[in-house]
Amino acid sequence: GQCAAVCPTGAIVVRNDTVKLWQDISDKDTKVVVQIAPAVRVGIGQELGLADGENVMGRIVAALKRIGFDEVFDTSTGADLTVLEEAGEFTARLQKEEKLPLFTSCCPAWVRYAELHYPQLMYKISTCRSPMQMFASVMKEHYGHSHRKVVVVAIMPCTAKKYEAARDEFKKDGVPYVDYVITTQELIQMIREAGIVFSEIEPEAVDMPFGAASGAGVIFGVTGGVTEAVIRRIADDKSVSALRAIAFTGVRGLQGVKEASIVLDGREVRIAVVSGLKNADSLIHKIRSGEKKYDFIEVMACPGGCICGAGQPVAGREGRNKRSVGLYEADRMSSIKRSEENPIIMALYDGLLKGNIHRLLHVDYVRKA
Ligand code: SF4
Repeated sequence: GQCAAVCPTGAIVVRNDTVKLWQDISDKDTKVVVQIAPAVRVGIGQELGLADGENVMGRIVAALKRIGFDEVFDTSTGADLTVLEEAGEFTARLQKEEKLPLFTSCCPAWVRYAELHYPQLMYKISTCRSPMQMFASVMKEHYGHSHRKVVVVAIMPCTAKKYEAARDEFKKDGVPYVDYVITTQELIQMIREAGIVFSEIEPEAVDMPFGAASGAGVIFGVTGGVTEAVIRRIADDKSVSALRAIAFTGVRGLQGVKEASIVLDGREVRIAVVSGLKNADSLIHKIRSGEKKYDFIEVMACPGGCICGAGQPVAGREGRNKRSVGLYEADRMSSIKRSEENPIIMALYDGLLKGNIHRLLHVDYVRKA
């Protein structure tokens, strides 16, 4: 039970981007905005003198401010956007009984794998950009009118995210929406270079105007989290007991293949959650042979999900469990459980996103494939 130590797609030359980033941070005419992925907060502590799996989000925020980042945000806020868009897309497909099963799209290593090995399945993959890309396009739009140059940084558990950020689909006039992807390991190096004693730093909160995220957005970092977040959105029953019941549908846990089913408007909705590309492969074969049938399939390339991303410090079985527990704990402690209850997201739909949803939040992988 060791996490993958290399990029699952094998197609990426892993660069270290911190040298140029330091220059941008020290440039007074450049505004540097950063987002932190869910998995990073439970994966970074161990190497910096704290417990593996401990949620150290507040310390990461404080460290990034100390380093010189101008605005610090949580990718879980971007994930809330993904939940709403993906839930809407899924419900529409269910109603028309078309393009099912819907495959999730937030893992770029999975998307790349599907492009190479299952091009004929691409039209079933959600058109939603990943949380990182959704959030970055919102940031570029929001800060785009500033007289300073704006640079968007993403702290990610993952080397495949560097490749995703470099894709043509995610550029505007040749400039990527995400200027730098920094892995958890690279952030550890930056924190050391800055001489920050992480275990002694006082935690701080993320900034406005994007400073709220739901628990649903936080659990994106672990296998099953995307699915659970989407179910929370589409389930009719919004009670606390319904929330608990969703947690017990079978979507949680670190197994490589999970199945669950829920009933929506009298229709049974069949769900599969897979992590690890081998598991995705065998699931697709079972669907083709007619042995299995699903409506919604979450795929994460890394076994266990992003908590075990190739950019994170390596974790054994116990570390994986602790990281997963850390994210579900963050969800429990969050006063907003569902993405649609996040006031920041609602304000975005009423403002910046009006008339821009397709342009900023979706992507057409098929046309290119
Ligand atoms: Fe990256 Fe792995 Fe998460 Fe996919 S599952 S987004 S490859 S960390």
